[in-house]
Amino acid sequence: MTRAMVSLIEGDGIGPEITAATVRAIAAAGGELDWEPVDAGAGAVARHGDPLPAATLASIQRNRLALKAPLATPSGGGYRSVNVTLRQHFDLYANVRPARTIPGVPSRFTGVDLVIVRENTEDLYAGIEHYIDPRRTAAESIAIITRLGSERVIVYAFEYARRHGRRKVTLVHKANILKMSNGLFLDTGREVARRYPDIEFDDMIVDATAMKMVVAPERFDVIVTMNLFGDILSDLAAGLIGGLGVAPAANIGDAPGATGDGAERACAMFEAVHGTAPDIAGKGIANPTGLMLSAAMLLDHVEQRDAAARLRAGVTAALASAETRTGDLGGRANTAQFTDAVIRAMR
Ligand code: NAD
Repeated sequence: MTRAMVSLIEGDGIGPEITAATVRAIAAAGGELDWEPVDAGAGAVARHGDPLPAATLASIQRNRLALKAPLATPSGGGYRSVNVTLRQHFDLYANVRPARTIPGVPSRFTGVDLVIVRENTEDLYAGIEHYIDPRRTAAESIAIITRLGSERVIVYAFEYARRHGRRKVTLVHKANILKMSNGLFLDTGREVARRYPDIEFDDMIVDATAMKMVVAPERFDVIVTMNLFGDILSDLAAGLIGGLGVAPAANIGDAPGATGDGAERACAMFEAVHGTAPDIAGKGIANPTGLMLSAAMLLDHVEQRDAAARLRAGVTAALASAETRTGDLGGRANTAQFTDAVIRAMR
């Protein structure tokens, strides 16, 4: 195990509070991480006149690892989403969102344990749209699916399944209707699957998937899909486990020159799924679970698995009791009390 240097974006709103809590919990879990604090978002605009200063990009480029708290994105005008810019700048092509029910977190289901790997750069989000006529009565958006883009995210999903001892990859598509674009993604998946005989593979139409995820979520293990379906299904998955507040995420790219999974050399950014929660910012009551579980993914990514497991166990234990859960989950603890409970449970 080697120490890792991580660019740390403490974010806007509740960001600084949940970041401080998470950094404390990682240290207590024995995570061997060194932090390089960097600026981004509304705070960076106030301090540097730029939501994404060059020094921040340079730090992430150097470290190839970032832990990021939520950043405020102005609606309508203002600057472009820093989150989207970061994903594009570092070509973070795989968005990985595990969804696992946690005892104590109110949810409709028990026993959900699945991971969605969403392609993050292509499809309808390639940004190619225009009005067809000058009166703007019709518009078209073009979905781009490439073999290369499909292959790298599907390979990532299989490699992830192998590394994490998962048994099955389900590829989700709409190739019955979108025969070329979605057909290409499906064909590529079938080819890649042949290289992983140890991992079960199947495919499913997206509408059937949405129904199955609600009726029998335990049927799924790793799901790999394109950008738009992944966007929708990963929020559906978060809903299955009690909402966005506890959901972690990773955005993974390849380091230049990396081949195949390239896991240890990949550029990766880990973040909670929720936003900056401006309504509770500065009150010391935010729930740091999403960022802590994202940090556990980061520790796994740098092969610090023991620390990752300790951190997850601490979070799970603290969430189990209303005494130590935060208010958003019906508990009575504030951020510091929750974090103390996470750390106590790891001892
Ligand atoms: P939000 O997730 O910030 O808040 C929605 C609700 O959930 C609020 O009531 C909030 O108090 C609560 N909540 C969220 N996280 C919580 C936590 N950790 N603990 C306790 N309660 C929590 O969503 P929003 O209000 O739509 O967005 C606010 C801002 O966040 C916007 O500027 C948006 O652009 C930004 N945002 C950023 C990211 C990101 O950086 N990845 C993601 C989503 C939204």
